[in-house]
Amino acid sequence: MNKAARNIPLDAFWMPFTANRQFKSDPRMLVAAKGVHYTSDDGRDILDGTAGLWCCNAGHGYEQIAKAAYNQLMEMDYAPAFQMGHPIAFEFADRLRNLAPDAFKHVFFTGSGSESVDTALKIALAYHRARGEGQRTRLIGRERGYHGVGFGGISVGGILNNRKNFGTMLTGVDHLPHTHLPENAFSKGQPEHGAYLADDLERLIALHGAETIAAVIVEPVAGSTGVLIPPKGYLQRLREITKKHGIILIFDEVITGFGRLGAPFASQFFGVEPDMFTTAKGITNGTLPMGAVFAQDFIHDAFMTGPEGMIELFHGYTYSGHPVACAAGLATLDIYESGGLLTRAAELAPYWEEKVHSLREMPNIKDIRNLGLIGGVELESREGEFGTRAYEVFLKCFKAGAMVRYTGETIAMSPPLIFEKENIDTLIGILGDAIKSTV
Ligand code: PLP
Repeated sequence: MNKAARNIPLDAFWMPFTANRQFKSDPRMLVAAKGVHYTSDDGRDILDGTAGLWCCNAGHGYEQIAKAAYNQLMEMDYAPAFQMGHPIAFEFADRLRNLAPDAFKHVFFTGSGSESVDTALKIALAYHRARGEGQRTRLIGRERGYHGVGFGGISVGGILNNRKNFGTMLTGVDHLPHTHLPENAFSKGQPEHGAYLADDLERLIALHGAETIAAVIVEPVAGSTGVLIPPKGYLQRLREITKKHGIILIFDEVITGFGRLGAPFASQFFGVEPDMFTTAKGITNGTLPMGAVFAQDFIHDAFMTGPEGMIELFHGYTYSGHPVACAAGLATLDIYESGGLLTRAAELAPYWEEKVHSLREMPNIKDIRNLGLIGGVELESREGEFGTRAYEVFLKCFKAGAMVRYTGETIAMSPPLIFEKENIDTLIGILGDAIKSTV
């Protein structure tokens, strides 16, 4: 597609999470991608500072993935996974669990991060019921959490705009406080203060009774609400409290999974094991829609007790374990493993941290946050115009040849794990110029 493609009418596609009228009056079109760059429809290279939408962890344009998907399409394009099987789904599940800590022996396939979240919440509820504790129906999320857009996800999520127009949500949901403390501004890596915020779970337990609480779900690092890094000791504390009270702990690893922090999963990076964790995005390097929920043995086994002819979990999707997505996923894992990409963020993180924090000298900087290959630069808001400064910076970056994300007043970055130091220099250079020129 090139500029001529602008003749395509834009009104048919109702775009997600987009100001449709504003976008369509001045569209930003991407038409090709290779390595760490997109190409815009006016022929410019755009440095990908966000791995697509936190999903193309190995960058773009792998023939290996394309061929694997093509071959699978020609061999068998689709087969159901309800009461039928196809080998590649079993193979992919086995490969995936070998990346996770030993305790995670079972993988439930979904089609997206939102589906993974709703699946994990449903498994947690059904797990307690299977064990005769069906009164555990309460779910605990966290303020400023993002868990996709299903009704489960928006109920445990903590973002007003994602909830307010959509009715009553799930009942019996409560939220922990978010972990963003002003005294931690400009922390490099994990902030020192705030482990105590996890103790709020004890307050909710005292309020509702542990015997009514099924699960707590948190993002190990919250991405969508502006890159919120967990304070040191916070996740450990959540783990201790949930374990003590028999509450299932779910990590939503949709963005932290597949190497973003310098280990395959955040649980390994932080040394904290939840009972289940959700994934999507990087599972196929963003090439085909897919997600997966990883569950510890004890959860899975609690379902395997009734008559053998009984369906143990009345849940699943037409596209659970889609053969073409599994083929793309297997090729993706080959690329991650042969390129050492699942740990590469650990090598780049010190340089990344130094460069992201070098922006502190720019005007209107309120905070800078980073971990692994994630960076967030929060700007001061203009009086009465929340978010307009970050939006302007985002537009200027795109014009200057770099893609970043903006959420609220924060510029969020999550580059492909194949980034080189010079790519970091370019990205931060473009962002710095954009911030400098934005009053
Ligand atoms: N959970 C987290 C932590 C996410 O960041 C996202 C998407 O950004 C989701 C869930 C939802 O994933 P999807 O958009 O694939 O449904």
